Amino acid sequence: MHHRIVIVGAGTAGVSVAARLRRAGEDDVALIDPARDHFYQPLWTLVGAGITNMQRTKRPQSSVVPKGVRWIQDAVSEFDPEERTLRTASGALVTYDALIVCPGIELAWDVVPGLSEAMLTNHAASNYAAHLAPKNAELVRRFRGGDALFAAPATPIKCPGAPQKATYMASDFWQRTGVLKGINVTFATGAGGIFGVPEFARVLEGVVERYGINTRFSNELVRVDPDARTATFEVTNSSGKVTETLGYDFLHVAPPQRAPQFVRESPLTGENPLGWIPVDRHQLNHVRYPEIYSLGDVCDAPNSKTGAAIRRQAPVVVSNVLAMLGGREPTARYDGYAACPFTTARGKMLLAEFDYSLTPHPTIPFINTQRERSDMWLLKRYGLPAYYWNVMLRGLG
Ligand SMILES: Cc1cc2nc3c(=O)[nH]c(=O)nc-3n(C[C@H](O)[C@H](O)[C@H](O)COP(=O)(O)OP(=O)(O)OC[C@H]3O[C@@H](n4cnc5c(N)ncnc54)[C@H](O)[C@@H]3O)c2cc1C
Repeated sequence: MHHRIVIVGAGTAGVSVAARLRRAGEDDVALIDPARDHFYQPLWTLVGAGITNMQRTKRPQSSVVPKGVRWIQDAVSEFDPEERTLRTASGALVTYDALIVCPGIELAWDVVPGLSEAMLTNHAASNYAAHLAPKNAELVRRFRGGDALFAAPATPIKCPGAPQKATYMASDFWQRTGVLKGINVTFATGAGGIFGVPEFARVLEGVVERYGINTRFSNELVRVDPDARTATFEVTNSSGKVTETLGYDFLHVAPPQRAPQFVRESPLTGENPLGWIPVDRHQLNHVRYPEIYSLGDVCDAPNSKTGAAIRRQAPVVVSNVLAMLGGREPTARYDGYAACPFTTARGKMLLAEFDYSLTPHPTIPFINTQRERSDMWLLKRYGLPAYYWNVMLRGLG
């Protein structure tokens, strides 16, 4: 089987790129993905907050694959970049002129002993998995008092703001229902601070104070004991590393994350132990194979791993792939733009937009987006999902 352009992964990145290639007149594009359903994952924050349901975040993959693009419903298992081939789980051999690799991220539950087992109990959940976000909503709704612990790892994760959003939305619910004063809310993260862009960090510190949340930085979750309901953290401080154990009655965890196994074990990876695909951070071409490009969560470009970043990466990849195939110099450049819509309460959102320079990079004219706003909440709740399905996945923006 040969296709001029082969795309691995039909998630946010794969479908956006395929649609743009079709609009550019490419008529031999194949999209390989085994999944029957396509999810709009940013809404999982609101599923976990009990504001919408999982069904509303999901559409059949067949309805989002652009017309004229061949969908191969199979999983890629091996790459041979020297031969310009890949193999699928069902044994098919596919050759290409250009390859675009975007199979997303793997949730590494196994890295923290006891974490998977904890997720089976009635005291722990996560907005990071389709089957656990509805459970989170239910546990938050039923919780009346005790220790509520929210943990996030230091590894790059998709939507690094999402663990905080889970903390704020739960705290807001508990405040509205009058039980927050009986709940000890802790947000523990392997990261060194609340957020890397000072202008937004200041607003988030105010949110933390408003709810009375205890923050613990440089706290990496290393073990969970679901029977004793304890979580152990490796804490890095000025004198080195120590371990500390906290009890919990409610636990939300964003698990550590890494590149999918078939990527980690392939010749496409580089030095990075988490297996991200090494690309030029501006042109998004593979550092060793000029006919391979990568974007989205799986690549090692040091942007915040978000759908918003993909919105800016997709046109760059399309332009550079078409240039490469046409024998021209690829010149399009990605500036590291990403956006994180911090839902800080029901009806309030802070839209943090920034780029590689880690300075605010607002794209919405006339309004001050460096504060919590109710119009931004409407954007998150209704505007962005509509934009995603009708504009971004159709290659229109
Ligand atoms: C709780 C949560 C909240 C978020 N909030 C936001 C937000 O507010 N704003 C924002 O911009 N982003 C947000 N994100 C992040 C955003 O959803 C991701 O960054 C984005 O979906 C990544 O796109 P992708 O195409 O790289 O991966 P995905 O969209 O995850 O798609 C990967 C695809 O690859 C396929 N695949 C996997 N393995 C194989 C294989 N072997 N062969 C072929 N195909 C394969 C999968 O089936 C899947 O369809 C959030 C994510 C989560 C979990």
